[in-house]
Amino acid sequence: MNQLICTSCDATFPFLDPRWECDGALLDLEFDAQIRIDDLKNRKHTMWRYREALPIKHDQNVVSFDEGCTPLTEIRVDGRPCLVKQEHLFPTGSYKDRGASVLISRAKELGVTKMVEDSSGNAGAAVAAYAARANISCDIYVPDSTSPAKLAQIQMYGATLHKIPGSREDTARATLKAAQHHFYASHVWNPFFFQGTKTYAYEIWEQLGYQAPDTLVIPTGNGTLIIGAYIGFSDLLKLGHIQHLPRFIAVQSAHCAPLDRMFRENLNILPKIQTEDTIAEGIAIAEPQRASQIVDIVRKTHGQILTVTDSDTEQALLDMCRQGWYIEPTSATAIAAFQKMSVQEDEVVVLPLTGHGLKSTEKMLKLAQQT
Ligand SMILES: *Cc1c(COP(=O)(O)O)cnc(C)c1O
Ligand SMILES: [Zn+2]
Repeated sequence: MNQLICTSCDATFPFLDPRWECDGALLDLEFDAQIRIDDLKNRKHTMWRYREALPIKHDQNVVSFDEGCTPLTEIRVDGRPCLVKQEHLFPTGSYKDRGASVLISRAKELGVTKMVEDSSGNAGAAVAAYAARANISCDIYVPDSTSPAKLAQIQMYGATLHKIPGSREDTARATLKAAQHHFYASHVWNPFFFQGTKTYAYEIWEQLGYQAPDTLVIPTGNGTLIIGAYIGFSDLLKLGHIQHLPRFIAVQSAHCAPLDRMFRENLNILPKIQTEDTIAEGIAIAEPQRASQIVDIVRKTHGQILTVTDSDTEQALLDMCRQGWYIEPTSATAIAAFQKMSVQEDEVVVLPLTGHGLKSTEKMLKLAQQT
């Protein structure tokens, strides 16, 4: 049955209930995804080709720019092969468009006219773009330290921008007040966002000739890609399209690594940690709401959590740029992690290039001047 379910008390709510929480606890969506290989043959190359796996009832509510089906390309890192999925090529410059496309379609299906969202940048830009396409008004809350290119993007899409002083958590608190009165288009709280990011898994499976890779390496803060990928591969397993799940490797910045600590010390709740500024701004999340889900995924798939320092990340970014890949510093954490991992001879490893380098021009200029 398709329904919302509380991750804390197991209460269920009807599919079309607009709520995004249950007494302060997270909701997940139980959804019976269908994928038939024969259906895919004649469909457009967009993430909506998996139509029967996406939880939107009516086609007229689908909000899309024909995004997705990003290329999966082999590269060599220190002489070792891996596959990079070019998620920086999305309309707004990051994979967050996968989640935004489904989430804003959901908002449209519910008849929403105004929404709020908080983000350290890319999710805000994606929600603003899809809200513009759906003609829904939107307010985006960001920490005042957010990169100027992302702020410009959010404003140019016509969203109302609120810059909040202090930490990412201060921004979240400011948003919660507004979310009492308007649809909360949260990429963290709203389970429909993950129903979009799961298409990352479906596409990799199709591109590998209907197979799962051995290993996924994923930059992780709030977990929007890693949780989505897990849902996607679990669907494929349930449908009998693959025989095993990949190993999930989450990558954190050593300067902000609460999940690493939770995993290593075998904790069941999120520890309070010290953080420092990091060049990997996209994953600098001190208090990820879905921490236990993320750590569970890593444990269940016999994966790992790897941390990388800013200097590892900068070096990986430079290596990539020197080969013609222009990606966000945050995306380079996956490359830096791959450099540290031991891999088997024929292991198929997939890394996402999560965001476009043009999002981070000031950081790039600084690096360019140092080299
Ligand atoms: C959102 C994002 C990530 C992953 O972040 P989560 O907080 O785990 O969702 C990685 N790289 C970039 C560029 C991002 O925008
Ligand atoms: Zn509950």
